[in-house]
Amino acid sequence: MKQLTVISGKGGTGKTTITAAFASLAENAVIADCDVDAADMHLILKPEILDTFEFTGLKVAEIDQSLCIKCGICRDACRFDSISSEIMIDPYECEGCGVCEYVCPEGAIRMVERKAGEAYSSTTRFGPMAHARLGIGEEASGKLVTLVRYNAKKLAERYGKEIIIIDGPPGTGCSVIASITGVDMVLVVTEPTLSGIHDLERVVEVAGYFKIPAVVCINKYDINEENSQRIESYCKDKGIEVVGKLPYDDIPTKAMMEEKTVTEYSDGEFSSGVKSLWENVKDGLSEHARKRVGDLPIVHNP
Ligand code: SF4
Ligand code: SF4
Repeated sequence: MKQLTVISGKGGTGKTTITAAFASLAENAVIADCDVDAADMHLILKPEILDTFEFTGLKVAEIDQSLCIKCGICRDACRFDSISSEIMIDPYECEGCGVCEYVCPEGAIRMVERKAGEAYSSTTRFGPMAHARLGIGEEASGKLVTLVRYNAKKLAERYGKEIIIIDGPPGTGCSVIASITGVDMVLVVTEPTLSGIHDLERVVEVAGYFKIPAVVCINKYDINEENSQRIESYCKDKGIEVVGKLPYDDIPTKAMMEEKTVTEYSDGEFSSGVKSLWENVKDGLSEHARKRVGDLPIVHNP
């Protein structure tokens, strides 16, 4: 089973547009929406939920009011001002440090798991999909990304799928790392702006650190051809292949409004670009998977 993660240094580079289009072009794939903070793939793919899994995040403090003598020691000890003068804990302010539980002389406080969201295994018109929804005020975490990837793998096994296509979170934080560890290749979607180039360098560094092969797609390459050239030179220096250059187009917005992928919506230049990008990515995936097998040490039987 091969795994591809589509990432970008920041949001809004067209990463989800491209991943959703891959979903419609790939045969035999599972889609994993690991951009859990701003999950929007479901708007295009319209998943039908098969299974729901509760996701718990941080532990938070809970007071047994029947044991509390209102001494206020916990309130004074809480560095996050999460305990009110009436000795009530605000679960959304509590950082789960456990100090109040430690200092309470009556043993009235215990740490409990807080539901932080839900993960889903679903089916879509393009095949199975794993995704998640965070609760209000919750932050994306590597743990939730790992749960989505686990569910994607289970779906791939259940339905005999050969590729998992992962829409990764933006940035370079722990949820990005959780979305790329152990994959066969990452596709970095970038834009020819100064911040785009900077973000590209950061994510390429992260992928390099984990020894994950990377390829690059320059989206809206024609908004600044000079910067696109800089990206190409940078990639050449790093030995990274630029597998696609997509023009600026309003097709992604129009397609999104009709809840379609770009390749479903139109046959124009943008969609053809995405189709050839997918072919190049598939070739790259096979190539890297082959190299990976080739890199394994040969063990001779004694
Ligand atoms: S430290 Fe314990 S007993 Fe004192 S106010 Fe807090 S919960 Fe109540
Ligand atoms: S666990 Fe920490 S942050 Fe939460 S209420 Fe207790 S002392 Fe405050």
